[in-house]
Amino acid sequence: MTKTDQLTSPLDIQAIRADFPVLNQEAHPGKPLVFLDSAASSQKPRQVVDAMSTYLLHDHANVHRGIYALSERATDAYEAAREKVRVFINARSRREIIYTRNTTESVNLVAGSWGRANLGPGDVVVLSEMEHHSNIVPWQLLAEERGFTIRYIPVTDEGLLDLAAYETFLQQEPVKLVSVMHVSNVLGTVNPVAGMIRQAHAAGALFMIDGAQSVPHLAVDVQALDVDFLAFSGHKMAGPTGIGVLYGKRVLLEAMPPYMGGGDMIRRVTLEKSEWNDLPYKFEAGTPAIAEAIGLGAAVDYLGTLGMDNILAHEQIVVEYAMERLSEIPGLKVLGPGPDRRNGVTAFVMQDLHAHDTAQLLDMEGVAVRAGHHCAMPLHQRYCLPATTRASYYVYNTTADVDALVEAIYNARKLFGI
Ligand code: PMP
Repeated sequence: MTKTDQLTSPLDIQAIRADFPVLNQEAHPGKPLVFLDSAASSQKPRQVVDAMSTYLLHDHANVHRGIYALSERATDAYEAAREKVRVFINARSRREIIYTRNTTESVNLVAGSWGRANLGPGDVVVLSEMEHHSNIVPWQLLAEERGFTIRYIPVTDEGLLDLAAYETFLQQEPVKLVSVMHVSNVLGTVNPVAGMIRQAHAAGALFMIDGAQSVPHLAVDVQALDVDFLAFSGHKMAGPTGIGVLYGKRVLLEAMPPYMGGGDMIRRVTLEKSEWNDLPYKFEAGTPAIAEAIGLGAAVDYLGTLGMDNILAHEQIVVEYAMERLSEIPGLKVLGPGPDRRNGVTAFVMQDLHAHDTAQLLDMEGVAVRAGHHCAMPLHQRYCLPATTRASYYVYNTTADVDALVEAIYNARKLFGI
Protein backbone atom coordinates (compact mmCIF):
# COMPACT_ATOMS: atom_id res chain seq x y z
CA MET A 1 0.00 0.00 0.00
CA THR A 2 1.28 3.47 -0.84
CA LYS A 3 1.11 6.49 1.38
CA THR A 4 -1.37 7.92 -1.12
CA ASP A 5 -3.77 5.12 -0.24
CA GLN A 6 -3.30 5.76 3.43
CA LEU A 7 -4.04 9.43 2.87
CA THR A 8 -7.35 8.42 1.28
CA SER A 9 -7.05 9.54 -2.30
CA PRO A 10 -10.59 9.81 -3.66
CA LEU A 11 -9.56 7.68 -6.65
CA ASP A 12 -8.64 4.03 -7.15
CA ILE A 13 -5.19 4.73 -8.58
CA GLN A 14 -4.29 1.09 -9.20
CA ALA A 15 -7.41 0.72 -11.37
CA ILE A 16 -6.48 3.93 -13.18
CA ARG A 17 -2.92 2.72 -13.74
CA ALA A 18 -4.32 -0.41 -15.38
CA ASP A 19 -5.82 1.85 -18.05
CA PHE A 20 -2.29 3.04 -18.96
CA PRO A 21 -0.34 -0.02 -20.19
CA VAL A 22 2.76 2.13 -20.85
CA LEU A 23 3.26 2.51 -17.10
CA ASN A 24 3.65 -1.23 -16.67
CA GLN A 25 7.15 -1.75 -18.06
CA GLU A 26 10.80 -1.63 -17.16
CA ALA A 27 12.71 1.45 -18.32
CA HIS A 28 15.94 -0.61 -18.09
CA PRO A 29 16.41 -4.25 -17.06
CA GLY A 30 15.29 -4.54 -13.44
CA LYS A 31 14.26 -0.87 -13.29
CA PRO A 32 10.48 -0.35 -13.44
CA LEU A 33 9.46 2.82 -15.23
CA VAL A 34 8.50 5.69 -12.94
CA PHE A 35 7.00 8.25 -15.28
CA LEU A 36 7.29 11.78 -13.91
CA ASP A 37 7.15 13.86 -17.09
CA SER A 38 3.44 14.44 -17.65
CA ALA A 39 3.85 18.22 -17.79
CA ALA A 40 5.68 17.67 -21.08
CA SER A 41 3.11 15.17 -22.32
CA SER A 42 0.80 12.87 -20.37
CA GLN A 43 0.32 9.20 -21.06
CA LYS A 44 -2.88 8.02 -22.79
CA PRO A 45 -5.39 5.55 -21.40
CA ARG A 46 -6.60 2.59 -23.42
CA GLN A 47 -10.01 4.28 -23.78
CA VAL A 48 -8.49 7.12 -25.81
CA VAL A 49 -6.50 4.79 -28.07
CA ASP A 50 -9.55 2.54 -28.54
CA ALA A 51 -11.74 5.48 -29.58
CA MET A 52 -9.13 6.55 -32.12
CA SER A 53 -8.53 3.09 -33.51
CA THR A 54 -12.26 2.35 -33.79
CA TYR A 55 -12.64 5.55 -35.76
CA LEU A 56 -9.60 4.87 -37.97
CA LEU A 57 -10.51 1.22 -38.63
CA HIS A 58 -14.27 1.59 -39.10
CA ASP A 59 -15.48 5.17 -39.45
CA HIS A 60 -12.89 7.22 -41.31
CA ALA A 61 -13.78 9.59 -44.10
CA ASN A 62 -13.15 13.29 -44.50
CA VAL A 63 -15.55 15.42 -42.48
CA HIS A 64 -18.08 18.06 -43.51
CA ARG A 65 -17.92 17.19 -47.20
CA GLY A 66 -19.31 13.80 -48.06
CA ILE A 67 -23.01 13.20 -48.58
CA TYR A 68 -22.59 9.53 -47.74
CA ALA A 69 -23.11 7.61 -44.53
CA LEU A 70 -19.45 7.09 -43.65
CA SER A 71 -18.55 10.77 -43.96
CA GLU A 72 -21.61 11.71 -41.95
CA ARG A 73 -20.55 9.27 -39.23
CA ALA A 74 -17.04 10.75 -39.16
CA THR A 75 -18.46 14.27 -39.03
CA ASP A 76 -20.81 13.30 -36.20
CA ALA A 77 -17.95 11.83 -34.14
CA TYR A 78 -15.70 14.82 -34.82
CA GLU A 79 -18.41 17.30 -33.82
CA ALA A 80 -19.51 15.22 -30.82
CA ALA A 81 -15.96 15.58 -29.50
CA ARG A 82 -16.23 19.34 -29.86
CA GLU A 83 -19.44 19.25 -27.81
CA LYS A 84 -17.64 17.22 -25.12
CA VAL A 85 -14.91 19.86 -24.94
CA ARG A 86 -17.56 22.60 -24.74
CA VAL A 87 -19.18 20.92 -21.75
CA PHE A 88 -15.78 20.22 -20.16
CA ILE A 89 -14.86 23.93 -19.99
CA ASN A 90 -18.49 25.13 -19.80
CA ALA A 91 -18.45 27.27 -22.93
CA ARG A 92 -21.80 28.65 -24.04
CA SER A 93 -21.60 27.38 -27.60
CA ARG A 94 -19.81 24.81 -29.75
CA ARG A 95 -18.95 27.72 -32.03
CA GLU A 96 -16.57 28.98 -29.35
CA ILE A 97 -14.45 25.81 -29.50
CA ILE A 98 -11.77 26.07 -32.21
CA TYR A 99 -9.65 23.00 -32.85
CA THR A 100 -5.97 23.80 -33.22
CA ARG A 101 -2.83 21.65 -33.06
CA ASN A 102 -1.85 22.66 -29.52
CA THR A 103 -1.57 25.55 -27.05
CA THR A 104 1.17 27.10 -29.15
CA GLU A 105 -1.06 27.30 -32.22
CA SER A 106 -3.95 28.65 -30.12
CA VAL A 107 -1.81 31.54 -28.86
CA ASN A 108 -0.49 32.18 -32.36
CA LEU A 109 -4.06 32.24 -33.64
CA VAL A 110 -5.06 34.98 -31.18
CA ALA A 111 -1.88 36.96 -31.86
CA GLY A 112 -2.09 36.55 -35.63
CA SER A 113 -5.80 37.28 -35.92
CA TRP A 114 -7.04 39.40 -32.98
CA GLY A 115 -3.63 40.91 -32.30
CA ARG A 116 -2.80 41.89 -35.87
CA ALA A 117 -6.24 43.50 -36.24
CA ASN A 118 -6.29 45.30 -32.88
CA LEU A 119 -2.79 46.17 -31.72
CA GLY A 120 -0.62 49.06 -32.81
CA PRO A 121 1.76 51.76 -31.57
CA GLY A 122 0.82 53.01 -28.09
CA ASP A 123 -0.94 49.77 -27.11
CA VAL A 124 0.31 47.48 -24.36
CA VAL A 125 0.10 43.70 -23.98
CA VAL A 126 0.81 42.37 -20.48
CA LEU A 127 2.48 38.95 -20.10
CA SER A 128 4.45 37.60 -17.15
CA GLU A 129 8.05 36.63 -16.47
CA MET A 130 7.00 33.04 -15.82
CA GLU A 131 5.44 32.46 -19.26
CA HIS A 132 6.24 29.54 -21.52
CA HIS A 133 7.93 30.63 -24.76
CA SER A 134 4.71 29.88 -26.61
CA ASN A 135 3.07 32.79 -24.78
CA ILE A 136 6.01 35.15 -25.30
CA VAL A 137 7.43 34.64 -28.77
CA PRO A 138 4.17 35.08 -30.78
CA TRP A 139 3.69 38.46 -29.06
CA GLN A 140 7.30 39.50 -29.65
CA LEU A 141 7.00 38.61 -33.34
CA LEU A 142 3.81 40.65 -33.61
CA ALA A 143 5.20 43.57 -31.59
CA GLU A 144 8.03 43.91 -34.10
CA GLU A 145 5.50 44.11 -36.88
CA ARG A 146 2.81 46.25 -35.18
CA GLY A 147 4.88 48.44 -32.86
CA PHE A 148 3.04 47.84 -29.55
CA THR A 149 4.74 47.41 -26.17
CA ILE A 150 5.00 44.26 -24.05
CA ARG A 151 5.14 44.51 -20.26
CA TYR A 152 6.00 41.55 -18.06
CA ILE A 153 4.52 41.04 -14.60
CA PRO A 154 7.55 40.28 -12.38
CA VAL A 155 7.81 37.04 -10.42
CA THR A 156 8.65 37.17 -6.71
CA ASP A 157 11.44 35.13 -5.10
CA GLU A 158 8.76 32.75 -3.85
CA GLY A 159 7.48 32.17 -7.37
CA LEU A 160 4.30 34.24 -7.31
CA LEU A 161 3.18 36.97 -9.69
CA ASP A 162 3.80 40.47 -8.37
CA LEU A 163 0.18 41.57 -8.35
CA ALA A 164 0.98 45.12 -7.23
CA ALA A 165 3.04 45.57 -10.41
CA TYR A 166 0.14 44.08 -12.40
CA GLU A 167 -2.26 46.61 -10.93
CA THR A 168 0.14 49.44 -11.74
CA PHE A 169 0.37 48.32 -15.39
CA LEU A 170 -3.42 48.26 -15.63
CA GLN A 171 -3.80 51.68 -14.06
CA GLN A 172 -0.98 53.46 -15.83
CA GLU A 173 -0.73 51.86 -19.26
CA PRO A 174 -3.12 51.52 -22.20
CA VAL A 175 -3.37 47.74 -21.78
CA LYS A 176 -5.41 46.00 -24.49
CA LEU A 177 -4.70 42.37 -23.59
CA VAL A 178 -3.33 40.38 -20.67
CA SER A 179 -2.10 36.86 -21.47
CA VAL A 180 -0.93 34.79 -18.54
CA MET A 181 -0.49 31.11 -17.73
CA HIS A 182 -2.93 29.60 -15.23
CA VAL A 183 -0.44 27.11 -13.78
CA SER A 184 3.32 27.42 -14.24
CA ASN A 185 5.05 24.47 -15.91
CA VAL A 186 8.18 25.14 -13.78
CA LEU A 187 7.09 26.66 -10.49
CA GLY A 188 3.75 24.86 -10.29
CA THR A 189 2.26 28.16 -9.14
CA VAL A 190 -1.51 28.37 -9.56
CA ASN A 191 -2.02 31.99 -10.55
CA PRO A 192 -5.09 33.80 -9.18
CA VAL A 193 -6.58 34.30 -12.62
CA ALA A 194 -10.19 34.96 -11.50
CA GLY A 195 -9.24 38.18 -9.73
CA MET A 196 -6.75 39.13 -12.43
CA ILE A 197 -9.46 38.80 -15.08
CA ARG A 198 -11.82 41.08 -13.13
CA GLN A 199 -9.05 43.66 -12.80
CA ALA A 200 -8.20 43.47 -16.52
CA HIS A 201 -11.83 43.90 -17.52
CA ALA A 202 -12.25 46.85 -15.16
CA ALA A 203 -9.31 48.45 -16.99
CA GLY A 204 -10.86 47.69 -20.38
CA ALA A 205 -8.41 44.93 -21.32
CA LEU A 206 -9.12 41.43 -22.63
CA PHE A 207 -7.66 38.39 -20.85
CA MET A 208 -6.25 35.18 -22.30
CA ILE A 209 -5.33 32.17 -20.16
CA ASP A 210 -2.62 29.72 -21.20
CA GLY A 211 -4.33 26.67 -19.73
CA ALA A 212 -1.80 24.07 -20.90
CA GLN A 213 -0.99 23.07 -17.30
CA SER A 214 -4.38 23.81 -15.70
CA VAL A 215 -7.08 22.31 -17.92
CA PRO A 216 -5.61 18.78 -17.50
CA HIS A 217 -5.52 19.07 -13.71
CA LEU A 218 -8.36 21.20 -12.38
CA ALA A 219 -11.86 22.26 -13.38
CA VAL A 220 -11.69 25.34 -15.60
CA ASP A 221 -15.05 27.04 -16.19
CA VAL A 222 -14.75 29.75 -18.84
CA GLN A 223 -18.10 31.32 -17.98
CA ALA A 224 -17.42 31.48 -14.24
CA LEU A 225 -14.01 33.02 -14.98
CA ASP A 226 -15.44 35.29 -17.70
CA VAL A 227 -12.17 34.74 -19.56
CA ASP A 228 -11.95 35.98 -23.16
CA PHE A 229 -9.59 33.35 -24.60
CA LEU A 230 -8.33 30.01 -23.24
CA ALA A 231 -5.63 27.91 -24.92
CA PHE A 232 -4.82 24.27 -24.12
CA SER A 233 -3.32 21.06 -25.57
CA GLY A 234 -4.90 17.61 -25.86
CA HIS A 235 -1.64 15.72 -25.30
CA LYS A 236 -1.19 16.98 -21.73
CA MET A 237 -4.67 15.85 -20.67
CA ALA A 238 -4.62 12.15 -21.57
CA GLY A 239 -5.42 12.90 -25.22
CA PRO A 240 -3.29 12.52 -28.35
CA THR A 241 -0.73 14.90 -29.79
CA GLY A 242 -1.74 17.04 -32.77
CA ILE A 243 -4.94 18.43 -31.26
CA GLY A 244 -5.45 21.49 -29.10
CA VAL A 245 -8.16 24.00 -28.41
CA LEU A 246 -8.70 27.70 -28.52
CA TYR A 247 -11.78 28.83 -26.64
CA GLY A 248 -12.86 32.38 -27.45
CA LYS A 249 -15.94 34.39 -26.61
CA ARG A 250 -18.20 34.28 -29.62
CA VAL A 251 -18.49 38.04 -30.00
CA LEU A 252 -14.68 38.30 -30.22
CA LEU A 253 -14.26 35.36 -32.58
CA GLU A 254 -17.01 36.69 -34.87
CA ALA A 255 -15.16 39.99 -35.23
CA MET A 256 -11.74 38.41 -35.83
CA PRO A 257 -10.34 37.84 -39.34
CA PRO A 258 -9.31 34.31 -40.37
CA TYR A 259 -5.90 33.11 -39.27
CA MET A 260 -5.22 30.73 -42.14
CA GLY A 261 -6.82 30.49 -45.57
CA GLY A 262 -7.92 27.36 -47.41
CA GLY A 263 -10.67 24.79 -47.71
CA ASP A 264 -13.47 24.48 -45.17
CA MET A 265 -13.00 28.00 -43.74
CA ILE A 266 -14.86 29.72 -46.60
CA ARG A 267 -18.51 30.11 -47.55
CA ARG A 268 -17.83 31.35 -51.10
CA VAL A 269 -14.72 31.89 -53.18
CA THR A 270 -14.39 33.83 -56.42
CA LEU A 271 -11.19 34.76 -58.16
CA GLU A 272 -11.57 38.28 -56.77
CA LYS A 273 -12.48 37.65 -53.16
CA SER A 274 -13.81 35.18 -50.61
CA GLU A 275 -16.41 35.09 -47.82
CA TRP A 276 -15.73 33.30 -44.56
CA ASN A 277 -17.53 30.35 -43.09
CA ASP A 278 -19.37 30.48 -39.75
CA LEU A 279 -17.63 29.79 -36.46
CA PRO A 280 -15.80 27.63 -35.59
CA TYR A 281 -14.92 26.68 -39.18
CA LYS A 282 -13.65 30.16 -40.08
CA PHE A 283 -10.55 29.24 -38.09
CA GLU A 284 -10.22 25.62 -39.22
CA ALA A 285 -8.71 25.68 -42.70
CA GLY A 286 -7.96 22.36 -44.40
CA THR A 287 -8.60 18.76 -43.41
CA PRO A 288 -8.48 18.66 -39.63
CA ALA A 289 -6.96 16.15 -37.21
CA ILE A 290 -10.14 14.06 -37.10
CA ALA A 291 -8.91 11.00 -35.20
CA GLU A 292 -7.08 13.25 -32.76
CA ALA A 293 -10.19 15.32 -32.07
CA ILE A 294 -12.09 12.10 -31.40
CA GLY A 295 -9.28 11.01 -29.11
CA LEU A 296 -9.52 14.32 -27.26
CA GLY A 297 -13.25 13.74 -26.83
CA ALA A 298 -12.49 10.33 -25.30
CA ALA A 299 -9.89 11.92 -23.00
CA VAL A 300 -12.45 14.44 -21.82
CA ASP A 301 -14.87 11.56 -21.16
CA TYR A 302 -12.17 9.77 -19.21
CA LEU A 303 -11.25 12.76 -17.05
CA GLY A 304 -14.91 13.60 -16.57
CA THR A 305 -15.66 10.11 -15.29
CA LEU A 306 -12.86 10.38 -12.74
CA GLY A 307 -14.00 13.89 -11.83
CA MET A 308 -11.72 16.91 -12.05
CA ASP A 309 -12.13 17.66 -8.35
CA ASN A 310 -11.00 14.12 -7.52
CA ILE A 311 -8.03 14.42 -9.88
CA LEU A 312 -7.01 17.67 -8.23
CA ALA A 313 -7.43 16.24 -4.72
CA HIS A 314 -5.31 13.20 -5.60
CA GLU A 315 -2.57 15.26 -7.20
CA GLN A 316 -2.49 17.58 -4.21
CA ILE A 317 -1.68 14.61 -2.01
CA VAL A 318 1.12 13.50 -4.29
CA VAL A 319 2.60 16.99 -4.73
CA GLU A 320 2.41 17.76 -1.03
CA TYR A 321 4.20 14.50 -0.30
CA ALA A 322 6.82 15.28 -2.97
CA MET A 323 7.50 18.70 -1.45
CA GLU A 324 7.91 17.09 1.96
CA ARG A 325 10.24 14.33 0.79
CA LEU A 326 12.33 16.48 -1.57
CA SER A 327 12.89 19.10 1.13
CA GLU A 328 14.54 16.40 3.28
CA ILE A 329 17.39 16.08 0.77
CA PRO A 330 20.41 18.20 1.77
CA GLY A 331 21.31 20.90 -0.75
CA LEU A 332 18.13 20.42 -2.81
CA LYS A 333 15.85 23.37 -3.44
CA VAL A 334 12.39 23.12 -4.98
CA LEU A 335 11.40 26.19 -6.96
CA GLY A 336 8.06 27.88 -6.39
CA PRO A 337 5.54 28.33 -3.61
CA GLY A 338 4.29 25.95 -0.92
CA PRO A 339 1.92 23.09 -1.68
CA ASP A 340 -1.25 25.09 -1.07
CA ARG A 341 -0.49 27.39 -4.02
CA ARG A 342 0.88 24.90 -6.52
CA ASN A 343 -0.16 22.03 -8.71
CA GLY A 344 1.37 19.30 -10.77
CA VAL A 345 5.12 19.96 -10.86
CA THR A 346 8.21 20.12 -8.67
CA ALA A 347 11.25 21.60 -10.40
CA PHE A 348 14.40 21.59 -8.34
CA VAL A 349 18.11 22.36 -8.28
CA MET A 350 20.80 20.59 -6.30
CA GLN A 351 24.12 21.86 -5.06
CA ASP A 352 27.04 20.25 -6.93
CA LEU A 353 24.85 18.27 -9.33
CA HIS A 354 23.86 19.71 -12.70
CA ALA A 355 20.21 19.37 -13.76
CA HIS A 356 21.05 17.32 -16.86
CA ASP A 357 23.37 14.97 -14.96
CA THR A 358 20.63 14.51 -12.38
CA ALA A 359 18.05 13.61 -15.02
CA GLN A 360 20.47 11.16 -16.67
CA LEU A 361 21.27 9.46 -13.38
CA LEU A 362 17.57 9.26 -12.50
CA ASP A 363 16.91 7.63 -15.86
CA MET A 364 19.42 4.91 -14.95
CA GLU A 365 17.10 4.16 -12.01
CA GLY A 366 14.04 4.11 -14.28
CA VAL A 367 12.79 7.52 -13.19
CA ALA A 368 11.77 9.68 -16.17
CA VAL A 369 12.08 13.40 -15.45
CA ARG A 370 13.00 16.40 -17.60
CA ALA A 371 15.96 18.76 -17.31
CA GLY A 372 16.53 22.12 -18.95
CA HIS A 373 14.76 25.45 -19.14
CA HIS A 374 11.37 23.87 -19.91
CA CYS A 375 10.69 26.54 -22.56
CA ALA A 376 10.79 29.19 -19.84
CA MET A 377 14.21 30.77 -20.32
CA PRO A 378 13.23 34.21 -18.96
CA LEU A 379 12.01 32.58 -15.75
CA HIS A 380 15.28 30.68 -15.35
CA GLN A 381 17.18 33.91 -16.02
CA ARG A 382 15.08 35.55 -13.28
CA TYR A 383 16.45 32.98 -10.82
CA CYS A 384 19.95 32.97 -12.39
CA LEU A 385 19.63 29.28 -13.16
CA PRO A 386 20.77 27.70 -16.42
CA ALA A 387 18.48 24.71 -15.91
CA THR A 388 16.31 22.81 -13.44
CA THR A 389 15.28 19.18 -13.08
CA ARG A 390 11.52 18.79 -13.17
CA ALA A 391 9.37 15.95 -11.86
CA SER A 392 5.74 16.33 -12.85
CA TYR A 393 2.70 14.35 -11.79
CA TYR A 394 -0.65 13.26 -13.11
CA VAL A 395 -3.60 11.24 -11.94
CA TYR A 396 -1.74 7.91 -12.35
CA ASN A 397 1.19 8.88 -10.12
CA THR A 398 1.40 7.78 -6.50
CA THR A 399 3.49 8.62 -3.48
CA ALA A 400 5.39 5.40 -4.25
CA ASP A 401 6.60 7.17 -7.41
CA VAL A 402 7.79 10.04 -5.22
CA ASP A 403 9.63 7.56 -3.00
CA ALA A 404 11.32 6.10 -6.09
CA LEU A 405 12.32 9.60 -7.20
CA VAL A 406 13.80 10.46 -3.81
CA GLU A 407 15.68 7.17 -3.59
CA ALA A 408 17.07 7.70 -7.10
CA ILE A 409 18.22 11.20 -6.13
CA TYR A 410 20.06 9.79 -3.11
CA ASN A 411 21.71 7.19 -5.35
CA ALA A 412 22.74 9.88 -7.82
CA ARG A 413 24.29 11.90 -5.00
CA LYS A 414 26.19 8.86 -3.78
CA LEU A 415 27.56 8.27 -7.28
CA PHE A 416 28.87 11.84 -7.32
CA GLY A 417 30.24 11.44 -3.82
CA ILE A 418 27.89 14.07 -2.40
N1 PMP B 1 2.18 26.64 -22.04
C1 PMP B 1 2.58 25.89 -21.01
C2 PMP B 1 2.38 26.39 -19.62
C3 PMP B 1 3.17 24.65 -21.24
O1 PMP B 1 3.58 23.90 -20.20
C4 PMP B 1 3.32 24.19 -22.56
C5 PMP B 1 3.96 22.85 -22.86
N2 PMP B 1 5.13 22.59 -22.16
C6 PMP B 1 2.87 25.01 -23.59
C7 PMP B 1 2.30 26.22 -23.29
C8 PMP B 1 2.99 24.62 -25.02
O2 PMP B 1 2.21 23.51 -25.28
P1 PMP B 1 2.28 22.80 -26.70
O3 PMP B 1 3.71 22.42 -26.90
O4 PMP B 1 1.38 21.62 -26.57
O5 PMP B 1 1.82 23.79 -27.69
